[in-house]
Amino acid sequence: MRILVVGAGITGCTLARLMKDKGYTVSVKEKQDHIGGLCYTTISSSGILYEPYGGHAFHTKDSRVKELVLKFSDFNNYRHNKGIFINDILRHFPLSRETILEIEDSEQILKDLEERPKIPDLTNFETYAISQFGITLYRLFIYNYSKKMWGLEPKELTTEYIKNRIELKNSNTQMFEDNFQGLPVKGYTELLRNMIHDIPIELNNSEFDESLFDLILFSGRIDELLKFKFGNLQFRSLRFEYEEKENWENENYGTINLPQHPKYIRKVNFNVMHQQKTNKSLIQYQEPIPSNSKNLPLYPIYTKKNIELFNKYLIEACKSEKIIPIGRLGLYKYLEMGQAISLAMNMIPLIEKWKNIRPEDRYLEIKKLLNN
Ligand SMILES: Cc1cc2nc3c(=O)[nH]c(=O)nc-3n(C[C@H](O)[C@H](O)[C@H](O)COP(=O)(O)OP(=O)(O)OC[C@H]3O[C@@H](n4cnc5c(N)ncnc54)[C@H](O)[C@@H]3O)c2cc1C
Repeated sequence: MRILVVGAGITGCTLARLMKDKGYTVSVKEKQDHIGGLCYTTISSSGILYEPYGGHAFHTKDSRVKELVLKFSDFNNYRHNKGIFINDILRHFPLSRETILEIEDSEQILKDLEERPKIPDLTNFETYAISQFGITLYRLFIYNYSKKMWGLEPKELTTEYIKNRIELKNSNTQMFEDNFQGLPVKGYTELLRNMIHDIPIELNNSEFDESLFDLILFSGRIDELLKFKFGNLQFRSLRFEYEEKENWENENYGTINLPQHPKYIRKVNFNVMHQQKTNKSLIQYQEPIPSNSKNLPLYPIYTKKNIELFNKYLIEACKSEKIIPIGRLGLYKYLEMGQAISLAMNMIPLIEKWKNIRPEDRYLEIKKLLNN
C-alpha cells in the first residue's frame, strides 16, 4: 500500500515512521520549508535552541510514547514548572491552597472554596471555572487570562479546553504529573529528522495527486481539506517577541503566566527549558491574536458553533475512501505532543481498515478515539 503523509509535524512524522515499519511504502509532503510543525526547534543568532511557535515541554504517561521518542533522541531532565504573576508577585502555578494562603484575599478565596458545588458546573468555561475555583480566584487569575487568550468572553466557550487542564491542588506541584518529561537534547526538529531519516520527504509543497496513493493521512486543517465548503473553523494565534536578558525571576520556572498583563499571556525562558548555560537568556513573549491567512492556526477555539462545524466537516471527511484527517488541525483538537503521538498510534487499526468500513463507522471510531 502506498501512503502519503501530508504535514511533517509530530503526528505526521510518527505515522510516517510507524506505517513504514509495518511495511507500507510511505512518503511525506510538507508545505513549510522545515519539518516539525509547531514544535519546530531552531537556533537563535546567539546559539540558543528555541521553538519559534512557542516553548514546548514534552511529557507523557504512555510508555509506548516514551519508548518511541527515546529511539530518536536523548532527553534533558527538565520537568515543567510554571510561575504566575498575580498582583505583581510571582507565585507558583498550578495554584494550590499553599499559594492561596499568601494572597491578600485569601480569607475570601477560602470561603468561596468552601461554598463550591460538589459537582462542577459544565455549562460553559466560566461556570466551570467559578465552580472549581470560586469567584475571587476566577477574577484574579482566570477571567482576564482567558479573555485575552481566546479573544472571547469565557462564557462563550465550552469546557472542552479547561476541563482536566487546571485544578486546584492542595500543595505546590509540578505542572504535569507524567513520569516522563524533558526536552530532546538537540531539539524537536532533530528528533523528528531522525524519526523519518529513511522516508522520502518533499518540503514547500502542499499539492498532491490522489491517484498516486492508496491512502493519504492529512494533518492540515480539515476545513481546508474540504475547501472551506461549510465555512472556516476558528483558531487563535500568537505573536511572538524576543528579548535576551541577564535576569529571569526564578530559574525553576521555564514559563511564567501573565494574567494581568495588558498584552502578553506568558513568557518563556528557553535557557531554562533547554538547560542551556549562556550569559543571557532568550525570552519569548507571547501575545494572543486572531488567526488569519498570515498567522498560523494555533489553538482550536472551542465554542459550540465551532464544535458543531467540526463535526459537520468530520462526517464529510469520513466519506472519503482515501483521505484520513489526523493530528491537531485535521481533528480540530488541542493535543499536547505526547497525546498527539498516542492518538496517532491509536489510530493505526482504524487507518488499516479505513477502506473496508462504512463512513458512519469511521466517524464513530474517530469520535471515540478523540474522547479517550
Ligand atoms: C503555543 C503552543 C505551545 C505548546 N506547548 C506545548 C508543550 O509545552 N507541550 C506539549 O506537549 N505540547 C505543546 N503544544 C502542542 C503541540 O504543539 C502539538 O501537540 C503538536 O503541534 C501537534 O502536532 P501535529 O503534527 O498534530 O500538528 P502540527 O504541529 O500543526 O503539524 C502539522 C503540519 O502539517 C503541515 N501542513 C498543514 N497543512 C498542510 C498542507 N495542506 N500541505 C502540506 N503540509 C501541511 C504544517 O505546516 C505542519 O508542519 C503547544 C502548542 C502551542 C500552539
